Amino acid sequence: MITKRTKIVATIGPASSSPKVIEALIRAGLNVARLNFSHGTYAERKEQIKTIRVIARKLNKSVAIMADLQGPKLRLGFLKGDRKIKKGESISLSINPLPDEIPMQFDLSPYVKKGERIFLNDGLVELKVKGVNKNTILTHAQNEGIISSNKGVNIPDTKIENHSFTQKDKKDLEFVLKEGVDFVALSFVRTADDLKAAKIIIEKSKKSVQIIAKIEKKEAVLNLEEIIKETDAVMVARGDLGIEIRGSQVPLVQQKIVNLARQFQKPVIVATQMLESMIHNPRPTRAEASDVAHAVLNEVDAVILSAETAAGAYPVEAVKMMNEIILSVEEHQQFKHFIQIDWRNIPPKQKPISAIVSSAANIAYRIGAKTVVIATTAGHSAKILASFRPEAKIIAIVHNDQVRNQLQMVWGVESFKIKGAKNYNIFWKEVISAIKKNKVAEKDDKVVIVSGSLIGVSGTTDTIKIVTI
Ligand code: PGA
Ligand code: MN
Repeated sequence: MITKRTKIVATIGPASSSPKVIEALIRAGLNVARLNFSHGTYAERKEQIKTIRVIARKLNKSVAIMADLQGPKLRLGFLKGDRKIKKGESISLSINPLPDEIPMQFDLSPYVKKGERIFLNDGLVELKVKGVNKNTILTHAQNEGIISSNKGVNIPDTKIENHSFTQKDKKDLEFVLKEGVDFVALSFVRTADDLKAAKIIIEKSKKSVQIIAKIEKKEAVLNLEEIIKETDAVMVARGDLGIEIRGSQVPLVQQKIVNLARQFQKPVIVATQMLESMIHNPRPTRAEASDVAHAVLNEVDAVILSAETAAGAYPVEAVKMMNEIILSVEEHQQFKHFIQIDWRNIPPKQKPISAIVSSAANIAYRIGAKTVVIATTAGHSAKILASFRPEAKIIAIVHNDQVRNQLQMVWGVESFKIKGAKNYNIFWKEVISAIKKNKVAEKDDKVVIVSGSLIGVSGTTDTIKIVTI
């Protein structure tokens, strides 16, 4: 069977919380389930996490869970039904609204200045600030549109001195650390420093949850390199990014983030509106199919479905479609778009492992071995091998379910779990038997195996072998 190399992340929501749909999503090619903490209750989250774990186990598949924390997302308050806004209309915003004013959940009045823009409802309505009167912000609507309760507010022209890690994020993080997830995504990160608060809480919990920095602020784009160095993975969060910077700049910024993440050997994920029209339609537009295909051609690690699977009418079809587009591109090796890794960017500590795994990939290529098997304790060496985007299939041999889950986010990595072995000979036998049992290679096939001489100790990879099965 051909397995896709680009991974699929799908957001779980009202349209996809039932065991039946979750099973169908996993069968259709889902690798990572994303829980969006901007919506939903803890009781729902708990149930979803349980369902995903139970079904993954039943299907004997590894599925990662990503908790996506809301961050300092600004939102409107409660509105009775929809409110239509006319172009040129005077609109007042306030945390203590009079009957005709628009309610806000956060007091922006000390920060916004005359002439600045405020966007409502994912950028669909643009307001221009005329002035501020106590807590009330007076604006003029620049276009018509509809808003309703809780819709997102973006203020790309305004600086506010808040923390990117909020009290709600802290509570949500503590909840997910208790429930057990594999990734935590942080929203509206601006600097490498913004990752610290979450890191400290994760370290204290002794859980090995990985951090994904969502790039959706102008400041994050300016501080890209320091953020990428500090995080475990990055997400191109095009939804908010497309309001915080001009929409027309998003494609090039996406390319920049992808290139830089690849240089620093960090997984990179492209998000938002990838198959947007499938919220309502059974087929995507050609432009959407092309968007997914281009991310695959760029050899990103993963692509994300958001509302398509969380709240759409065709959640399973959307994953199937994404899977189909990925496979149709990956089938054609001639379109491979290599990004040469600049070795000067590799930290000295990471150079030996990079040299070993890239050599293993090169050996496999030279001898025509279709598979590189890599024994990995923490998943790190498999991730580094994948960063070179080898032609050969990557099979990671792991001992730990969470490491296996986390490798579900990494381009091209498939994995098998074996029991921790006492010594090298036992370990070696188990690896060979796992290769045979899982039909990784057939009799007489050559396989390149990368391992360490110390079993179960991370950072000791030092051996490449060519084995004929
Ligand atoms: P969100 O993040 O869906 O949590 O807003 C993704 C994005 O902004 O693109
Ligand atoms: Mn966002």
